[in-house]
Amino acid sequence: MSTKQKHNTNPFEMALKQVDLAARHMDLEPGLVARLKSPEKEVIAHFPARMSDGQLKIFTGYRVQHNDTRGPYKGGLRYHPLTDLDEVRALAMWMTWKSAVVNIPFGGAKGGIQCNPKEMSSTEIESMTRRFTYEISSIIGPDLDIPAPDVYTNPQVMAWIMDTYSIIQGRTVGGVVTGKPLELGGSLGRFEATGKGVFITALEAVKSKGLQMEGQKVAIQGSGNVGGVAARYFAQAGCKVVALSDSKGGVYNPGGLDVEHALACKNKYACVMGPEIEGEEINNEQLLTLDCDILVPSALEGVITKHNASQIQAGIIAEGANGPTTPGADAILEDKGVLIVPDILANAGGVTVSYFEWVQNLQNLLWSEKEIDSRLTGILQKSFAEVRKTSQQKKVGMRVAALILGIDRVVSAMKLRGIYP
Ligand code: GLU
Repeated sequence: MSTKQKHNTNPFEMALKQVDLAARHMDLEPGLVARLKSPEKEVIAHFPARMSDGQLKIFTGYRVQHNDTRGPYKGGLRYHPLTDLDEVRALAMWMTWKSAVVNIPFGGAKGGIQCNPKEMSSTEIESMTRRFTYEISSIIGPDLDIPAPDVYTNPQVMAWIMDTYSIIQGRTVGGVVTGKPLELGGSLGRFEATGKGVFITALEAVKSKGLQMEGQKVAIQGSGNVGGVAARYFAQAGCKVVALSDSKGGVYNPGGLDVEHALACKNKYACVMGPEIEGEEINNEQLLTLDCDILVPSALEGVITKHNASQIQAGIIAEGANGPTTPGADAILEDKGVLIVPDILANAGGVTVSYFEWVQNLQNLLWSEKEIDSRLTGILQKSFAEVRKTSQQKKVGMRVAALILGIDRVVSAMKLRGIYP
């Protein structure tokens, strides 16, 4: 049973509460706060796709466009059995603040299809993806709304979306999605970008405490595109990655895991706790309260709650996942003096390199990995410094500071644009 089911964490309620917490430190008229809280457009599609046994199956998919004041709607598409409208609404809103925190010219959106891709064949996933793309084809586009990978979607899924959209348009439109395969105009460094960004921002947090990265004990929940990639960077920097997990459970070794070996095991056995791994088997809840310096929740939302926050031992939490910490847990962690690198900063590396991909597509450019790398590092370091400065000036935690910074940029843009008519 997921934490979300167990504690009934509603991500959209969390996201709304966060806006209220930030608004307390901002001078915003109530109507404006109401506008920030409501998504601009929502599409719910119930659509058929043919399964390998010949049967038709009806899927439910969502695309929520939260805000496009600062630029086209932007955000991932997730395939998960527990995805629902409120989750997608929350994720769309977090994308708006995230794009604004790193100051890239995008708004926020998110999509999701309620499905279990682990039990579907590649052909079934392709049919479902193509039909969903058709369902949302009138509301996506390179200057309108640009999907990207999220939980259990990948460059291949992006290629199917790009192909379907291009066929509908009658021409190849690369810029309609980001996170594409390199062969189709994907950007160097996009695949690693979110995990790498988690590492870059965690490093800034470590430095801000006057510490060194080398020797830090790191526990990572998740081992996919975010957690698995971040684990490599932490290990390369001389950290002890003491725990890693996947949806089935995790492995703990206080002496430090061999990250490459654990990820290879995951590839081989579809689970990090393979037979050759040296470590204790743990579950995803236990991982969060292990003895470590840096905790990196990189799976789903709502896992750090008021029920387990007081037991967290890490001094730094770098949020690879979107929304892993509930507002109730935030209050407890702040009292304990835990430094949180909030999701809308810690995992913003993904959308930042998505922006680089989109710019390259629109201008038919190809940037080198080195160029991508230095631009990404520069943007994330600057954003960390700005969030930290806001946190010190307003005397608030890093989450509220990031929200204030992001919301303020959106509000300034809204005020300049005014209300039509
Ligand atoms: N799904 C990622 C996120 O939550 C990436 C979004 C994007 O690249 O548009 O930030």
